[in-house]
Amino acid sequence: MAKTIIVSNRLPIRIEKEEEELIYKTSEGGLATGLGSIYKENDNIWIGWPGISLEKEEEQEVEEELINRNMRPVFLSESEVQEFYLGFSNQTLWPAFHYFIHHMRFKEKEWIAYMQANQKFADAISKWLEPDDTIWVHDYQLMLVPELLRNKFPNVTIGFFQHIPFPSYEVFRMIPWRKKLLNGLLGADFIGFHTYDDMRHFLSSCHRLAGYSYNRNQILVKNRLVEVDSLPMGIDYDKYAESAGSQLAKAKEISYRDSLGPQDLILSMDRLDYSKGIPGRLRAFEKFLGEYPEYQGRVSMFLIVVPSRDKVPSYKELKEEVEFLVGHINGKYGTINYVPIHFYYRSFPLDDLSAFYRMCKIAMITPNRDGMNLVSKEYIASRENVDGVLILSEMAGASKELSDALLVNPNDEAQMVLSIKTALEMPLSEQKRRMSSMQKTVQKYTIFQWVDLFINNLKDLKKRQLAMA
Ligand code: UDP
Repeated sequence: MAKTIIVSNRLPIRIEKEEEELIYKTSEGGLATGLGSIYKENDNIWIGWPGISLEKEEEQEVEEELINRNMRPVFLSESEVQEFYLGFSNQTLWPAFHYFIHHMRFKEKEWIAYMQANQKFADAISKWLEPDDTIWVHDYQLMLVPELLRNKFPNVTIGFFQHIPFPSYEVFRMIPWRKKLLNGLLGADFIGFHTYDDMRHFLSSCHRLAGYSYNRNQILVKNRLVEVDSLPMGIDYDKYAESAGSQLAKAKEISYRDSLGPQDLILSMDRLDYSKGIPGRLRAFEKFLGEYPEYQGRVSMFLIVVPSRDKVPSYKELKEEVEFLVGHINGKYGTINYVPIHFYYRSFPLDDLSAFYRMCKIAMITPNRDGMNLVSKEYIASRENVDGVLILSEMAGASKELSDALLVNPNDEAQMVLSIKTALEMPLSEQKRRMSSMQKTVQKYTIFQWVDLFINNLKDLKKRQLAMA
């Protein structure tokens, strides 16, 4: 029976070493949840890096264990992690695609490592591929994989989804290897983006940098029809709604609230990343407390920063900047019984997140650029009483669907400051009207619908390709 092969840089599992013993922890991330309904079924498999460098004998042990869990590992050496993952993926593509052009670097050695790692993934897929299988490749670390497979298997069905933004042609063209990246992606049959703008930017780059002409959302690549579309990714709505409504989350909320006092809380929750706009958000909060002193003592920020890529210098610097700003603001406005910013540099399990989503009257999510942003959707799903206010950056993919949020430009400090005041003073009836409309949207387009839509679009396109042949 034909199977589906999911491919992503990371497998939906974390392997940790505790006193020479390997411990397997399943990932509960959004993508893993959504694709869980696929890769665990029948003969389907997920191919990717297990996230740890191992000795040869251990690799064997891990491979055997993962095979039982419908996964196939691609092992990366320390230097591959350094150059392919932390290097080209996260210091060339990530900053370029998030418009942080001053953080981009172009190192030939890292590009070569990127090509080699993509070849390694393509080889692993080839090993498990059988006729009529469907391959679904995920994200910017693997942009060359579709073409590598297409060259070897001209008729295979390949889908690709880009989870981060696709930048404007003006930015994309700065990358020396731009044409190779585009041709890499165009090996796929169907290419999905979160937003219409990402899709348009991709089409425009294909036209202007690689000479392809396109008609609406279709490109003809060597007589093969390739289609692109925007498919915004959703969340498992019921999981977040149920968790937030559970006795455990309610008990945690009560106990945290008892310790925190009566202030209104503004939630800020992101991975440590310069694209997330954390310093700008902190500066806006500082300005707000200065401009509206009547709110000092009455509102605190609940700041969660999840450690990420902390071996990359720009991330280390960002961490120091955030720590400096938190110290500065707490020193300036804190009192014996008022902490302006409660700061946590760690990640939390779902029970705690649900309690935080419940207890924060406002969620302030103001990235400078974000492919989608799932935290904003999780906050909405967790608002059991249909109240609360979402302040959301118009630079997040989610803003295209969540027009009832208070949308802000993260570079407009005055607007950011005002949005905090507006959120704090918003009448309950307006909160409910906006929240209820956003809940309907997030409930309607879940992660499960997203998976079905992608797979159906891919299959439908394949049928049309065959009819054309
Ligand atoms: N998250 C988590 N623990 C935390 C904070 C966040 O598991 O302490 C999860 C959060 O629930 C969300 C994900 O991390 O599902 C972040 O996804 P998002 O799209 O917002 O940002 P990304 O990190 O993918 O850029």
